[in-house]
Amino acid sequence: MKKKKITKLNENKKILKITKFISTNDLASLMNVPINKIISTCMSLGIITSINQRLDEETIIILADEFGYNIEFTELKEEYNDYNEIEERKEKIEKRPPIITIMGHVDHGKTSLLNYIKNKKKSNKKEIGNITQHIGAYSIKIKNKEKISFLDTPGHEAFTAMRARGVKVTDIAVIVIAADDGVKLQTKEAINHAKTARVPIIIAINKSDKEEANPSKIKEELANINILVEEWGGKYQSQEISAITGKGIDELLEKIIIEAELLELKVNVNKNATGAIIESSLNKGRGYESIILIQSGTLKIGDKIVSGIHYGKIKAMFNYEGLKINKAKPSESIRIIGLNGAPQAGDVFKVMNTDKKIKEIAKKREQIIRDQNLKTRMNINLNEVKNKLSNDETLKELNIIIKGDVNGSIEAIADSLLKLSIEEIKINIIHKGIGQISESDVLLASTSNSMIIGFQVKLSNKARKISKKEEIKVKMYSIIYDIIDDIKESIEKILSSKKKEIVTGSMKIKEIFKISNIKTIAGCYVTDGYIKKINKVKVVRDDVVIHIGKIKELKRFKDEIKEIKHGFECGINIENFNNVKIDDIIESFE
Ligand code: GDP
Repeated sequence: MKKKKITKLNENKKILKITKFISTNDLASLMNVPINKIISTCMSLGIITSINQRLDEETIIILADEFGYNIEFTELKEEYNDYNEIEERKEKIEKRPPIITIMGHVDHGKTSLLNYIKNKKKSNKKEIGNITQHIGAYSIKIKNKEKISFLDTPGHEAFTAMRARGVKVTDIAVIVIAADDGVKLQTKEAINHAKTARVPIIIAINKSDKEEANPSKIKEELANINILVEEWGGKYQSQEISAITGKGIDELLEKIIIEAELLELKVNVNKNATGAIIESSLNKGRGYESIILIQSGTLKIGDKIVSGIHYGKIKAMFNYEGLKINKAKPSESIRIIGLNGAPQAGDVFKVMNTDKKIKEIAKKREQIIRDQNLKTRMNINLNEVKNKLSNDETLKELNIIIKGDVNGSIEAIADSLLKLSIEEIKINIIHKGIGQISESDVLLASTSNSMIIGFQVKLSNKARKISKKEEIKVKMYSIIYDIIDDIKESIEKILSSKKKEIVTGSMKIKEIFKISNIKTIAGCYVTDGYIKKINKVKVVRDDVVIHIGKIKELKRFKDEIKEIKHGFECGINIENFNNVKIDDIIESFE
């Protein structure tokens, strides 16, 4: 009895052997679950993910469980052991600046807040003639003393990308909420992200310069989701700000410093550096460049570094002001040159003592990924075959995100597009908003499988980069009619891409001639229509399709023929299929 039970359990849950490097798409494919299902399950868990994003171990286990799998992570232990190197330097513990991520709902002012803080810094720097460069992260000095580092990648993206690899780079999350709007879906998601990562939260109630601003309403809505601000007796610091006028921003920065004090952020600076990749790129002339955040130790020119499947020796380092530097300390984000490739955002980096070691680790990881890809590819091929066999004509949807310059035109566009919905293709407006197309729009498009329409607005550089990487369709317009015409055209394209199968004729098997072990000829009578050799056939037995394939031979007496019509007899051999039986029906279709 017992044995039976155990077998049943094992049967119920299949085992999936994977590595922590797996992406959402690959996991979906290995579990044979549609990617949309995975993304929506992630959303219900409060995790925003995109197709190519890699998942952390915890999320992989939860998702696998949801879809009936047990996970076995392969070769992970070995990899960690590789990191154990003996360092003989004396510990030197120092305080490091806090690292801040700004999150919140689309259009609530995350970019504006980051820009305000950055520009404020820039104007100070201008006096001494430096030009601040974009570097994915930057540090500012408060009252010339305390430093704060900001991750300059607003939205959940950086945060989730990092967390996805189990790297915690954020010390404090600032949640921006527009005072003229309210606590929205993404606000809640952002709060959940921070809470699950156990990152302290500070609430910034933005747009308080606006007449419609109602900060009390925001605090009330927050209380409803168990976020009680200090003035209301809770533990969360909050600050009314304006990212346009700058009101309250100094106070917000001070509150960040207070929160950071409580965290006692101290690390050993006298050891090999470790940290995380913020972003990487391939630069013409300069080669691969990565922006990295140092979390512990000190990074120096010439250090041997490994990250993901890439490795190299640091040839040059630049700080966020574009200045060449020779070493960098914890919480600093810098641009490095020297890696032999572009590791992904969220990959951990580590400095090792020898060239041999970094190479060894990188190569081993490459092998793991190669094995993983092979498995995934095999599974994708299988799925493709299955998809081809199913004739499911499901309803198609066209998901659209609209960004425009003024509310009036956005509403007009949304209304006109919704009217284009037809029975076979439904138009969904996933999101609409005022302002330039930001990376959070692209991220939203990626998770919701949408296209983005921009009306008289710009596409931010970052958003352009991500949209290219994630293959998101972004189209810009200045005339509403052009949008409608284009979408009409897209609908027509989708309609025409829906394959229509037309049965041209069918025949019944009357006799079987076994020519050899590998070749059987079915003697058939064409009961209706016509059969063309070039068309595909389905073999139907007891009303069930048992095979779909090509005709290898079509013969009338001894002659090869191209076509046979109703009322005639013929001999047929189906490619790679010999299991034909008398009374099977063969249908030909185009
Ligand atoms: P994000 O999507 O959260 O990054 O939002 P953005 O920073 O792009 O801001 C969205 C829109 O709100 C832009 O048009 C900003 O100019 C505007 N905005 C942002 N902050 C403020 C603010 O404090 N006051 C006012 N009046 N407008 C703001």
